Amino acid sequence: MERIYMIPVNDAYQSECDCPLCELASKAETNELDYYLGPSLMEPDTRKITNKTGFCPDHLGKLNRREANRLGLGLMLHTHLKDVNDDLMNVMKDSIPGKSSLFKGRSSDYKSKLTALADKIDKRTKECPICSKLNDSMGHYIEVITYMFKHEDGFKEKFAAAKSHCLPHTAMLLRAAAKLSQNDAADLVEALYQNDGKYFSELIDDVEWFTLKFDYRNNDKPWGNSKNAIQRSMRFLASDRSDFDEKQSKGSK
Ligand SMILES: [Zn+2]
Ligand SMILES: [Zn+2]
Repeated sequence: MERIYMIPVNDAYQSECDCPLCELASKAETNELDYYLGPSLMEPDTRKITNKTGFCPDHLGKLNRREANRLGLGLMLHTHLKDVNDDLMNVMKDSIPGKSSLFKGRSSDYKSKLTALADKIDKRTKECPICSKLNDSMGHYIEVITYMFKHEDGFKEKFAAAKSHCLPHTAMLLRAAAKLSQNDAADLVEALYQNDGKYFSELIDDVEWFTLKFDYRNNDKPWGNSKNAIQRSMRFLASDRSDFDEKQSKGSK
C-alpha cells in the first residue's frame, strides 16, 4: 500500500469532521470539478469523453455554480448536445407508433420501442465522468482504510475516535469489513458500532431540542448543539452534499 494514499486518510481522521469519508469525498470532488473546469476541458482526450458522457444532474449543477470557464463549458455542451441529438432523435423518429387503421392492424411492438428509448435516455443522462472517478477514489480510500486499520500503528485508535461515519459510508465500510478475516472485521465493526451509536443518540437529542426551541417557554434557553441539528442529521443519513449546507437553508431558526 503506497504511503501517498495514506496521507489524506490520516488527515481526514485527524480533522474535526462528522464523517472522515465525507471529508475525503468532498476533497476528491473539488479536485474533479477543478480538473474539468481547468485546461483539461479543451484537451482532445478529455473532450472525447465529456462530449460523449456529459455530466450527471448533480455535477452539472456544481459546474454551473462554479461560474468558471463558461467558454469551455459552452464548447463541451455544444458537442455533447450534438452527440446526444445524433444518438437519440433518429431512434425517436423510428419509435413514433404508426396509427392503426382498418387495413393496418394494431401492433404492440411500439410499447417495447418506447420503453427501450426511455431507458436509453435515462442511461445517458446519468452518465458522468466525475461520478465514476469519485466512485473509484472512494473504493480506493475504503481499501486504504481497511489496510491501515490492520497494519498501521495507531490508526485503529484514530478510527475509533472518529465522531461518526455517515450511513452511506458506514455501508461501504461494512461491505469492506465483510472481506476481512473474522477477527479484523470484529474490531472494525465494533468501532463503527460504537461511534455511530453515540452519534445517533447525540443527533436524536439535538433534533429534539431543535423542535423544543419552537416552544415559547424555551425561548431563552441556550441552543446547545442544536442550531444545525437538521443539517447534521441530513448529512448523517445521506452523506455530505452542498444542499445540506447550513448556508443553503432559508428560514432556519
Ligand atoms: Zn460520509
Ligand atoms: Zn456526477
